[in-house]
Amino acid sequence: MKKATAIISQQQQGHTVGGKETNTVLPPLYTGSTVLLDSYQELLLAERGEYPGIVYGTDRMPPQRAFEAAISSLEGSALTRAFQSGISAINQTLLAFTSSGDHILVCDNVYGPTARFCRQVLAKYQVEVEFIPPDAGAEIRDYLRDNTRLIFLESPGSNTFEIQDIPAITAIARHKGVITILDNTWATPLYCDPFALGVDISIHSATKYIGGHSDILLGTVSVSEPYGEAFATFYQLMETFASPQDCALALRGLKTLPLRLSRHSQSALEVGQWLCRHPLVERVLHPALDSHPQHHLWQRDFSGASGLFAFLCTEEYGEGLTADFINSLDLFGIGYSWGGFKSLITAGRCQRSHSSPYQGRTLFRLNIGLEDPEDLIADLKKAFRILG
Ligand SMILES: *Cc1c(COP(=O)(O)O)cnc(C)c1O
Repeated sequence: MKKATAIISQQQQGHTVGGKETNTVLPPLYTGSTVLLDSYQELLLAERGEYPGIVYGTDRMPPQRAFEAAISSLEGSALTRAFQSGISAINQTLLAFTSSGDHILVCDNVYGPTARFCRQVLAKYQVEVEFIPPDAGAEIRDYLRDNTRLIFLESPGSNTFEIQDIPAITAIARHKGVITILDNTWATPLYCDPFALGVDISIHSATKYIGGHSDILLGTVSVSEPYGEAFATFYQLMETFASPQDCALALRGLKTLPLRLSRHSQSALEVGQWLCRHPLVERVLHPALDSHPQHHLWQRDFSGASGLFAFLCTEEYGEGLTADFINSLDLFGIGYSWGGFKSLITAGRCQRSHSSPYQGRTLFRLNIGLEDPEDLIADLKKAFRILG
């Protein structure tokens, strides 16, 4: 069965009323802290950790569980847990699998707050963090030490969209017993299959395409069999569960993900191709374009491209002109995050610890929403007139 069909056909269970189950198409929204038990005997079972049902709100209500199960089945993982945000999912996973004295490798193009957490929090616990080139592949071998515990990948990475050779890295890591983690947010579960590429743990900011409507913050971590139990235990101890409301909205978002994503994908490619031909654009950083430096890896390891990419202009404009350019856009909101129906733009100077052709350059990042791409192109065309 194709993923688009599997997403729609997942069954949900409802309340029983008059002896009949009320099977709404999406599961009912349960919220709550207290769950009433039937008897003192059940309380005793709960005390002993032997009660089979949900004892308290922190055990995750049916909406959280339904959402986690849906992601797990799409990702093909042993277990998925939902977190209050994508960054919380990342931070907790890094905490779960490291101890003092460990060395970890993190690709240089990770989401900014991921790098910040590594530098400022993991360092406090004597976990040594080393950044690897954003297009790393088999040379990962040279970075591995006896105490290397995990490798954190994000492919394509934030803002510069370099792609790592994931199968080359995971093959070497597996051989050495090093855990591999992929931030798979850009591709979603539809356009990349991390477990088929040998990754051990796949993370999503469900805030982005899975939610799809810019109205929730949510993250997921899906782990393969060897790490399932340890991760579930850690999750329970840390109590960083997601809200039932956000999970219910994400489950609703998931139903239309295939449809939305194909529109985001087509429109982004159209806008990207148009930008490639614009005389004031030096380069478009979009994995589905032939000009992307790891286009061949994208073709091999991904089954699609989502709607987020960046571009650089031939010139570096001052703050004033950059402001005029961005402020003159009518259809692109100015704001963070992405994956929603509204097109967005951000711009900032690229800073990397490894040498990068984009170092110090202004990167304009576009989230291509669900508007008609012709209108988006017309809006950009009008704004470019300000630059020349
Ligand atoms: C946005 C983002 C995150 C963090 O997600 P939040 O849900 O906003 O915390 C993590 N990774 C990537 C690649 C992102 O773009």
